[in-house]
Amino acid sequence: MTGTDPIPSQDFIRNIIAEDLRANKHEGRVVTRFPPEPNGYLHIGHAKSICLNFGIAAEYGGVCNLRFDDTDPSGENVEYVESIKSDVRWLGFDWGDRLFYASDYFDQLYHYALQLIKDGKAYVCSLSTEEIRKYRGTLTEPGKDSPYRTRSVEENLHLFERMRAGEFEDGTHVLRAKIDMASPNINMRDPTLYRIRHMPHYRTGNKWCIYPLYDFTHCLSDSIEGITHSICTLEFENNRPLYDWVLDELNVDCHPQQIEFARLNLSYTVLSKRKLVELVEKGYVTGWDDPRMPTLAGMRRRGCTPESIRGFCERIGVAKRDSIVDMALVEYCVREDLNQRAPRVMAVLRPLRVVIDNYPEDQVEELDGPYHPQDPSMGSRKVTFSRVLYIERDDFLEEPSKKFFRLAPGREVRLRYAYYIKCVDVVKDEKTGEVVEVHCTYDPETRGGWSPDGRKVRGTIHWVSAAHSLPAEVRLYDRLFQVANPTGEKDSDFTKYVNPNSLETLTSSRVEPSLSSAAPGSRYQFERLGYFCVDSVDSSNGALVFNRTLMLRDSWAKIANKEKKQT
Ligand code: ATP
Ligand code: MG
Repeated sequence: MTGTDPIPSQDFIRNIIAEDLRANKHEGRVVTRFPPEPNGYLHIGHAKSICLNFGIAAEYGGVCNLRFDDTDPSGENVEYVESIKSDVRWLGFDWGDRLFYASDYFDQLYHYALQLIKDGKAYVCSLSTEEIRKYRGTLTEPGKDSPYRTRSVEENLHLFERMRAGEFEDGTHVLRAKIDMASPNINMRDPTLYRIRHMPHYRTGNKWCIYPLYDFTHCLSDSIEGITHSICTLEFENNRPLYDWVLDELNVDCHPQQIEFARLNLSYTVLSKRKLVELVEKGYVTGWDDPRMPTLAGMRRRGCTPESIRGFCERIGVAKRDSIVDMALVEYCVREDLNQRAPRVMAVLRPLRVVIDNYPEDQVEELDGPYHPQDPSMGSRKVTFSRVLYIERDDFLEEPSKKFFRLAPGREVRLRYAYYIKCVDVVKDEKTGEVVEVHCTYDPETRGGWSPDGRKVRGTIHWVSAAHSLPAEVRLYDRLFQVANPTGEKDSDFTKYVNPNSLETLTSSRVEPSLSSAAPGSRYQFERLGYFCVDSVDSSNGALVFNRTLMLRDSWAKIANKEKKQT
């Protein structure tokens, strides 16, 4: 983390921890953990949890573990493990030598299960999955005891060992906690602890064919690692009694305190790995790192900085009530950050040729362009000026309105860092009537962008030299969904709200020559257009590809306001 990060304000979790420290509850220790399941890439919701867990550890002189919660062999793999590690590092956090895997605890967990059986606190149940569901009851009706609940300890031990030995098919038996089928909390109605799954695990291979479930694994992993504060999202509030039950019944030395906070929900996107996987698999995006994805890999490729994501997490804070945060707030944080750190350069996305009739044919000038208007320490680069230029197609109008202050027949504009030019003629395509070339004259007295006679020019436009600029592909990204809450309706397919215009690819853009050696991932402000970043996957020195991170201003706010006015 950099020293410039704002100091987190005191939230209810930090209050609890500060109080525990005052009371010397864990001999002054603070140990947290971030426990992702390696079944997908991390998204910005995970960033909230990472900033919270690693942040708290750093603030209170504690440590934070990275633990892979990898107990479900389906869908977990090494690619996800590696992506998660690199995303946490990119975000600016370091787990040191505290990298753990729940799968490393399989032996220990198995022995804990045996202990529960021996203590008469767990039994092998041979109801089918469907029957177990029926016996469980509902929110308003108590459940019913399984007929296998009264099996003897010996029989349970024997069956559980045979489950482990691979003697049974998937789904024929499970190990359940013996708690209370009439509990008002459904999680406490003899929850399943282990199930049979004949499937290789990406780390333990074929060693196991029974796998522990989340509620059994998670609390014990926390305990094994000596976690003091087990911070998780609100949907686990009703699992807390089970978390405590397992640790109490096993009488472990370390009993961490589970604390729940509200997960991050964001408008105009989805933050659920199951849904993100669907977008990838059905080809709505090119992959987990598609710049439209709310994944950290996607946001990084889009051009967002880790500082801006940390700043966002800081700004939203931590609360106990669920809400939906406006995507505009993420965009605001990214813009604020890029505004400070992105060098300004010139690029023309949709080029229109401009010939300066009175500029000598073979003349070339190097003009000075500072990289940042407010930060001279960023230095400057030379911008090459010549007789034939490109300007943005929509910076010229043949029949302009009064309020159009850019180039038009007979009108004068300032070329950024260069000269005033005045449009004297246009060349049109004979067939389509489209303007294909604009002829101008320039005023040699206005070098640098101001005139000695002080005459007013209202518009300043950006440009590149035709002969010196470089070709580039530019990908214009927009929000992935057209509606604020794509998963708002029950039982409706969220993919129908995917924004069909979330990507526009421009293949004939031109960028200034200083970008010839721009490194993959580097970020710029293209003057007047927005923030752009060199694509880290597809860009190369000879074939530059830029991703638009964001426009300079929030065009969605304008659209939303217009819609509000209309209705
Ligand atoms: P998803 O719903 O996307 O599948 P998950 O909770 O199953 O998420 P995990 O890999 O288990 O994904 O998450 C690791 C940690 O990140 C958990 O502690 C979880 O509480 C936290 N987390 C996941 N999503 C969010 C979110 N939207 N906001 C805050 N924390 C989150
Ligand atoms: Mg999970």
